[in-house]
Amino acid sequence: MLSEQEISGIQTRLVETREDIANAAKKAGRDPKDVTLIAVSKFHPVEALGAAYAAGQRHFGENYIQEALDKQDQLSDLPITWHFIGKLQSNKAKFIPGRFSMVHTIDSGKLAHTLHKRIIAAEAPVQDVLIEVNLGRETQKAGIEEADLSQLAEEIMTLDSLRVRGLMLLPPFTLTPEQRRPLFSRLRELRDMLETRLGQKLPVLSMGMTDDFHEAIAEGASIVRIGTRIFGPRPTKL
Ligand SMILES: *Cc1c(COP(=O)(O)O)cnc(C)c1O
Repeated sequence: MLSEQEISGIQTRLVETREDIANAAKKAGRDPKDVTLIAVSKFHPVEALGAAYAAGQRHFGENYIQEALDKQDQLSDLPITWHFIGKLQSNKAKFIPGRFSMVHTIDSGKLAHTLHKRIIAAEAPVQDVLIEVNLGRETQKAGIEEADLSQLAEEIMTLDSLRVRGLMLLPPFTLTPEQRRPLFSRLRELRDMLETRLGQKLPVLSMGMTDDFHEAIAEGASIVRIGTRIFGPRPTKL
């Protein structure tokens, strides 16, 4: 159980976060309405999500399939927009169809094909997806290499159950927010190049978290994914 204090803490920080986002957008000469806040709720209990929902939050992001499905079931009477932002293993793709409005982490042709097959099998609606790009050059990390990005995007475009909406970035944690800024700007350039190449709009740039959303918004983020700033430090276990 969360205490009343914890609940009002979440609601206060959510309001403050929205103000911060609006200010960052205005500072960058952007319309605050063009930046969507996803509340990242991994490891936090459903009550925490409920508190944010009661304060007007509608977009939530989860990283782990089973945890996400459990929360969706418990909150099924609320019209929440769910985002899958964690690493997606191919053997978990069967849990995605019909459950998430957007999957942010497609980073291989194999994963795209597997998800496509699962969506067809489930007769689920077309799935919006983002391509996760690895710009930090960390070999073990998720994301497609820049050099392979357009090929992956073209491959996904042949799969009629998937609709590419843009790009996602998870920069290396070792970089300071200021050092991440060139990566945010690079993601936007890649998006612009890809739009021209594919002849299709890619409106979504999913980038920016608690520590670096100001920089990400300055560089064109259309979605920021914020957890700690709203919910506080993550419990290590749910
Ligand atoms: C956990 C997580 C976030 C939120 O991080 P905070 O620093 O808590 O805001 C955003 N994006 C992804 C992909 C995450 O895994």
